[in-house]
Amino acid sequence: MFEKIADPKDVILWQDRIPIRHRYTPGVAGEAFFTALRDRGELLASRCESCQITYCPARLFCERCFAGPLEANVTVGPQGTLVSFSVGTVGVEGEPLEEPVTVGLIRPDGADTVLMHFVVADELEVGMRVEAVLRPEGQRTGSILDIRGFRPAS
Ligand SMILES: [Zn+2]
Repeated sequence: MFEKIADPKDVILWQDRIPIRHRYTPGVAGEAFFTALRDRGELLASRCESCQITYCPARLFCERCFAGPLEANVTVGPQGTLVSFSVGTVGVEGEPLEEPVTVGLIRPDGADTVLMHFVVADELEVGMRVEAVLRPEGQRTGSILDIRGFRPAS
């Protein structure tokens, strides 16, 4: 029961369906973040002056001291620093992926927090400089996937 399961196919599971419909909204700060990303191609952040922390994506309240409401009025990035990364070779059902997928934690310049997103690079190193690759204007929908991923900064 408490042994580490290394292969996701080794767990007991059953297949079924749960008929659930939902509508999840990003909230006030999330709405500002996704609107800025879609309309201006900007990464919007919020700063808590008490904690001296700039959050990206923007937040309505400080996660450390609960101060709020914070303003979503700081633009950060689009370049940043790769803080961590992981290369995935299997999907959530344990199936092998056709191509490995690299996901990284990126701290945009001017922010103190990280974004998790795809990273595309031939060689990866923690601390390397990266930049956001955005979908072209007019093709953005207000989704985190308006950022295609991050690549080494030019
Ligand atoms: Zn704070």
